[in-house]
Amino acid sequence: MAQAKVRKKKVATKMAYSVSTLTDYSAEALERTSAELLSALKHEAAAVKSDADRKVFRDRWMARKNGILTQINDLWLKKAPKESKREAGRMVNEVKRAVEDIIEKADRVESATPVVSGIVDITLPGVQRSIGAEHPVIRTTNEIVSVFQKLGYSVAEGPVVETDYYNFEALNFPPNHPARDTQDTLFIAGQQSRAARERLLLRTHTSPVQIRTMETMRPPLRIVIPGTVHRNDPPDASHSPMFHQVEGLAVDTNITFGDLKGTLDHAMKALFGSSVKTHFRPSFFPFTEPSAEMFVSCFICGGSGKRGSDPCRPCKQTGWIEILGCGMVDPNVFEFVKDNGYDPKKVSGFAFGMGSDRIALLKYGVDDIQLFFQGDVRFLQQWG
Ligand SMILES: [Zn+2]
Repeated sequence: MAQAKVRKKKVATKMAYSVSTLTDYSAEALERTSAELLSALKHEAAAVKSDADRKVFRDRWMARKNGILTQINDLWLKKAPKESKREAGRMVNEVKRAVEDIIEKADRVESATPVVSGIVDITLPGVQRSIGAEHPVIRTTNEIVSVFQKLGYSVAEGPVVETDYYNFEALNFPPNHPARDTQDTLFIAGQQSRAARERLLLRTHTSPVQIRTMETMRPPLRIVIPGTVHRNDPPDASHSPMFHQVEGLAVDTNITFGDLKGTLDHAMKALFGSSVKTHFRPSFFPFTEPSAEMFVSCFICGGSGKRGSDPCRPCKQTGWIEILGCGMVDPNVFEFVKDNGYDPKKVSGFAFGMGSDRIALLKYGVDDIQLFFQGDVRFLQQWG
């Protein structure tokens, strides 16, 4: 006969419920045990009259240390023989749900107590919701993008996880080219079985979107590309492994370096004020030829290199701030999209790219890029 063998402590029925060790794990025994517990629970819940009672009741059943739920877990489930674990687990879970349900109901009664017979205290303060604000980096990105949109550029975007082909090869970084070393790349793990150009990485610049767009849109083309990029740079005051770029590309017949200079000079005046001057110095990028770095006259010290009698730190006292890289699109890059109308003998173009975090640092006089990404509301509230 399947008699439940629940070894009970010597307690009178009127005394408080306590969890006893379970020796019989048959279906009937489990059912009886859980019924006993639930009836005790309801009985105790009904006796709760005050906030103090409610706290005692909650602690007795739910306390992590030695609460009844913890005890049944230890005494009924953990000690159950292997073959009964499943059944015991099901029962313990049911009991837990029931207990949580009843305790929650008791708590709801508590939270409703300030409303006495339908009267709401209208002198209590209301629920305040903070108004969000644009992050300084997003705000700067949008400002840059809108300058180019007004010149007729459209916005293009692309994936952050890229293939080696789009991030390097099609931008004239052949395999083993030393220029790859200048972009400390974060690769996705477990790609060894793929062909080299198919291997995935976190894009190190927004330039892959240039190729992706030229593959789908025929010239003439004018696009501006905002986006997140990653490089294996240890974080410090001016570096972050994740940062933001805005890049641009214009392709048409007869585009010259004069167009590049005129466009960027206009953009800098729109961003930093009509009095800034621009200045180009030769540089190298694999995907442009010739390439240049563009400087703007320091909009903090007005180009003097000094703030009063102090040296101007943002321009390192030179009166010039390096702001972006640019150049005429290398004909080798057009070769990769030649079939879509980009014959390097017929079209030319220019491209440029800048870091929006860096520009935000300069514009707002912030001296540590980490502040942008730490999510400290006290810092971000300044833009609210
Ligand atoms: Zn300066």
